[in-house]
Formats: sequence, C-alpha cells, structure tokens
Amino acid sequence: MIDSGFLNDTIIPGLYMLAAAGFILAIKWMNSPATARRGVIVGEIGMLIAVVGTLLRFEVVNYQWILIAFFLGSAIGVPLAYMMPMTAVPQRTAISHAFGALASALIGTAEYYKTTPSGFTMGALVLEILLGFLTFTASLMAFGKLQEILPTRPITYKGQNFVNLGIFTAAVVIGITLIVSPEMTWLFPIFMGLALLFGVLLIIPIGGADMPTVIALLNSYAGLSAAAMGFALDNKLLIVAGALDGSSGFILSIIMCRAMNRSFSNVLFGAFGQLQVSAATTSERPIRSASPEEAAQILDASRTVIVIPGYGMAVSQAQHKLREMYDVLTKRGVDVQFAIHPVAGRMPGHMNVLLAEADVPYDKLREMDDINPEIPMADVALVIGANDVVNPGAETDPKSPIAGMPIIQAYKARTVMVIKRSMNPGFAGIDNDLYYMPNTLMLFGDAKSFLSSIVKELAAVARS
Ligand code: NDP
Repeated sequence: MIDSGFLNDTIIPGLYMLAAAGFILAIKWMNSPATARRGVIVGEIGMLIAVVGTLLRFEVVNYQWILIAFFLGSAIGVPLAYMMPMTAVPQRTAISHAFGALASALIGTAEYYKTTPSGFTMGALVLEILLGFLTFTASLMAFGKLQEILPTRPITYKGQNFVNLGIFTAAVVIGITLIVSPEMTWLFPIFMGLALLFGVLLIIPIGGADMPTVIALLNSYAGLSAAAMGFALDNKLLIVAGALDGSSGFILSIIMCRAMNRSFSNVLFGAFGQLQVSAATTSERPIRSASPEEAAQILDASRTVIVIPGYGMAVSQAQHKLREMYDVLTKRGVDVQFAIHPVAGRMPGHMNVLLAEADVPYDKLREMDDINPEIPMADVALVIGANDVVNPGAETDPKSPIAGMPIIQAYKARTVMVIKRSMNPGFAGIDNDLYYMPNTLMLFGDAKSFLSSIVKELAAVARS
C-alpha cells in the first residue's frame, strides 16, 4: 500500500505536471496540420493522466457516483461525437462548453454551501460561479441559435446595452458583497440567477452567424472559470488547464475578429445578422457560366491551379472528390495548390480539417498571405463553395459590411471558376462582384456532384 503522504505530495503532483505538459504540447502541436493529430493524442493522454491523478485523491472521491457519471457521460458523448456532421461542430462545441461551465459553477456552489469560505478563496469562487453560470446559459443560447431551434437573427431593443450592463453590474456588486460577507447566504441564489440571466441576455442581440466567434469567447470564459476553481480548490492542474483554455479561446476569438475585420464590440453588440436581410440582393448584371466539360478542358490546359475552398465545400462534403481531382490533375503535370482563408467555412480550421480528412498533402495547403502574391501568376483560381472570402468588395467598397476584411484575391487569376448552386449570397448576405468579372466562369451545381463530373470529364480527356 502506498503511503498517503507520498501519494499526495509526490505522485499526484507528478501526474499533474505530466498532464499539464501534455496540454501545453497539445496546443503547440495543434498549430500545424502536419502535427495536429499528434497534438490531439497527447492532449487526450494528458487528460487521462489528469483524471487518474484526481481519482487517486481518495479523500475527495466517491467512486460509485463517478462510475455512474462515467457511463452516463460516455453513453451520451460517444454517439454524439460519431453522429454530429462536421458542419455542426460549432454547436457541438457550444453544448460541450455549456456543460463544462455548468460543472464548474455547480462545484463552486457546492463548495460555497459546504465551507462558506472567505477572503481570496471566496473571491475565486465568486468569479468561478459568475463565469460558470453565465457561460452555461450563453452557450445553450449559442447552441440554440446555431441549431436554429431559436431565432437566429439578432433581437435588439432600445436601451438593451444598458439593461445588460445593469444586470451584469448588479451581479458583480452582489458578488463583491458575498466576498466581503460570505455569511449572507440569502444573496447567493440572487447572484446565481443574475449570472444565468446575463448569459441569456448577452446572446439575444447577437446573430446566429456570429456565434462561432462568440463560442471561442465563451470557451475562454469557461477556461477562466475553471482556473478560478483551481484557485478555490487549490488544484494547480485546474489553474494551468483553465488558463490555457482561457487564453487560447481569447486569442482564437481575436484571430477570428481580425480575419473578419470586425471588432469585439461589433461582434458582441453590432447585431451583424440583421444586415443579411437588407443586403441580400443580387445584381442583374450578366454572368458567364460553363459546363463540367468546359471546366475540365480549362483545368487540363492549365499549368497552375489554385483551389479556394469555402463553406459550400463543407456543406456538400466535396473534399474527397476534390482530392480525386487533385490526383488526376497532378498526374497530368498541373501544379495544384489550396488557398486557405482563416475564416473560410464556419469554424476556425474548418477547411484544414476537411482537406486533411481527404489526405490532401499538407504542404499544398497555403495560408492567405502566403498565396495571394502568387495568384496573378495562376492560370485558374477554382473557387469551391466560397463566397465572402473571395469577395473583392471587401477591398473596393468601403460601405460593404465586409469592408476591410482580408480576402483571397481570386479575381487576380487569369481565369476564375466558381462552383456554387445559385447566385445566392453567403454568410454576410451580400452580392459578390467576382461573379460578374470578365475572367469569371460560374459553374452552377452542388460542389460534390460538379467536381465528380469534372473528374469524369478529365478521365475522358485523358483517354481521348
Ligand atoms: P460563405 O458563407 O460566404 O459562402 C458559402 C457559399 O457556398 C454560398 O454562397 C453558397 O452558395 C455555397 N454553397 C452552399 N452549399 C453548397 C453546395 N452544396 N455546393 C456548392 N456550393 C454551396 O462561405 P465562405 O467560406 O466564403 O466564408 C465564410 C464566412 O463565414 C465569412 O463571411 C466568415 O466571416 C464567416 N464566419 C466564419 C467563421 C469561421 O471561423 N470560419 C466563423 C464565423 C463566421 P449557393 O447557395 O448558391 O450554393
């Protein structure tokens, strides 16, 4: 039998150190598609070590309940992971945050009623509970909007920001009062209620389309709540993991805002989705379209093709057909590269994940700033289900809702071909000048079936 002092002072802290190292390496390796799988595995091993370490703390553990929770959680989590399509990952992430934050807030609540701590510990508990409860309801609302169970358009009314600020301030004031006088237990349910209410009100004015950015921010809040819980429970691993989660979520939301040229306040208070209704008019200008056969001939005759995937590729799950087209063209000596916009699709890294799933070589995936200077030399820019991220209006029209958003400059290629089903706008709800340019050919159809036809035509060209 291991001595409990040795267990608590050496083994458990050692396991926690290993777990923390796993989390840090996971984040580092997830930085590049080439090492991302390794990052995920190391992160999972880190989490396993953390769980084992925590279960070794006999004094805090009731194995019976943990086993029940383990089986219940797995029964829900495993099918959820398998059944959710890639395009639903943002809402799946939202629901995970909701329950993570709820767990953190409930632990804080239990700790408050069990020990009524004071001073620093109470301060940490108040922060944990405030962030935990508000993240819980905000994440549920984000889930509802993304899943379209709730209306996705932003709901605004006069004085809304003042009402929200008032509720948040009231929660903070009560929180501070509880830190000073923790024995005022009657204030606690009001504090909880205000935090829960604020989470709902925070999301109401934000359009469904902005939810992925908000989710990254909520991720950060859930992380901060966990870090505060680490301080309250004196658990160093929670502090490290929570701080990593908090800072990475925050950095991610900043990256997303920058890539959309939006400010935080514009995302949180800008009611962006409303623009979609008013601006969603397409123009009467003439366009040129082409058949799969014509598209295949153009591709076959080119030396360099830059593929620009977007949300439509994810919707149609065209990545495997795209890979087939890549193979055929590469075999025929065409240089094919993939231009990845940081916010193409509906979640960060969306295109990287899909193309990695289809085993597209990592070194062919090029970031926007890296590939843009090469586009003027390309024979073809093949846009597949992307719209806003190639809209030249972002550069030329200061009044555009996406003005200033950096774009992949597909319009500079000698020929532009755009696969999409109609002239309908994309996420920002605006028309796209690219479609009317003299060097653009529209390839109307579902991305997967159109690519499939192109692959067939290319094979036919090869035989003839
Ligand atoms: P968009 O949403 O601008 O456009 C997608 C296009 O795909 C649509 O115009 C649609 O046209 C087409 N499409 C849909 N289904 C299919 C299909 N089955 N086959 C072929 N085409 C299809 O996508 P982008 O990737 O260009 O831009 C992403 C947008 O999302 C940006 O505005 C970005 O700011 C925003 N965003 C991104 C986030 C991220 O983290 N990635 C987070 C939050 C927002 P049609 O209906 O005619 O087929």
